[in-house]
Amino acid sequence: MPQEETDWESLTFGYYPTDYNVRSYYSKGVWSRPELCADPMVAVHLAATGLNYGQQAFEGLKAFRCRDGRVCLFRPEENARRLQSSCAGIMMPEVPEDLFLEACQLVVKHNRRFVPPYGSGAALYLRPLVIGMGPHVGVSESSEYLFSIYACPVGPYFKRGVTSVPVVIQRSYDRAAPRGTGRFKVGGNYAASFRAMHEAYEEGYQGGCLFLDPQEKKFVDECGSANFFGIRGKTYITPQSESILASVTNDSLMTIAGDLGLSVERRPVPVEELSTLNEAAACGTAAVICPISKIVDLDTGRIYGYGSEPGPVCRELYDHLTGIQSGRLPDRHNWLREVDLKSETT
Ligand SMILES: *Cc1c(COP(=O)(O)O)cnc(C)c1O
Repeated sequence: MPQEETDWESLTFGYYPTDYNVRSYYSKGVWSRPELCADPMVAVHLAATGLNYGQQAFEGLKAFRCRDGRVCLFRPEENARRLQSSCAGIMMPEVPEDLFLEACQLVVKHNRRFVPPYGSGAALYLRPLVIGMGPHVGVSESSEYLFSIYACPVGPYFKRGVTSVPVVIQRSYDRAAPRGTGRFKVGGNYAASFRAMHEAYEEGYQGGCLFLDPQEKKFVDECGSANFFGIRGKTYITPQSESILASVTNDSLMTIAGDLGLSVERRPVPVEELSTLNEAAACGTAAVICPISKIVDLDTGRIYGYGSEPGPVCRELYDHLTGIQSGRLPDRHNWLREVDLKSETT
């Protein structure tokens, strides 16, 4: 579908077919050169470790059309490093950073007609995946892998501006085990949280579950599949824990908070401290910031309210981060990586 026919305004955060994906195969200890593929399907052996034992990791990042017309990726090296950490965590070979970055460049370049225009609030979302492909009936890691990246344009998470949503604390579910795989971006963590998230949505908690630390259930861990942060006065507070995923968005927001004159605290956050916060939110690549209107603790009956409208600090942080991503504000921390849309070699 040519760019003229894509209705950027009506894009949601959902799958949208594009022209190409990029693939590299790992076999006999080496990754192949990344190649373009027009077919969105992949043939997987029924006995593949990725299908049977959850040996799979993924990433998520965005490419933006900037005000000056350039197309830029946001901090892709961070995703490359995190994917390496996830791969190592579940016994998969690490994707070299150069290969990861080259594959990102390729997939954006060859889907450039799907990069939404500046100012639309939409972006081209990249989904890197590593999947264990080798057939193993016995429980063990594969010796063959597929690294692929597909791309699809996604709309702004919030269609009518950023809105606040309620979340729920339910101690009957954990998304990850203590010292388990919570700090890796692996599909298994997601399957493990589907039931809890589904129940939360069914009960009207649009923001899903706020998971507590799985060991003691005393500290705040993650908000669904996003990091949690709170604002108290002039302080940005975000949990430190063994079972949460280090979010690139959260890391960026901590830096921006510092730029804006806030102090930043990253430490265990006791549940009771939620009552002292002025603002609370979830953050991640998809929504950037998702402000929380209230947190309902089903076991204690406590309700922590932050108002139905996003607070001033959340708004400011959101405007700054999206401003840098779109080239509206200066890229002071050198976070943008321009995609070379012209070169003949790639
Ligand atoms: C991907 C993810 C996040 C957000 O990370 P970003 O790098 O900001 O997109 C947070 N928590 C979990 C569990 C995730 O999978």
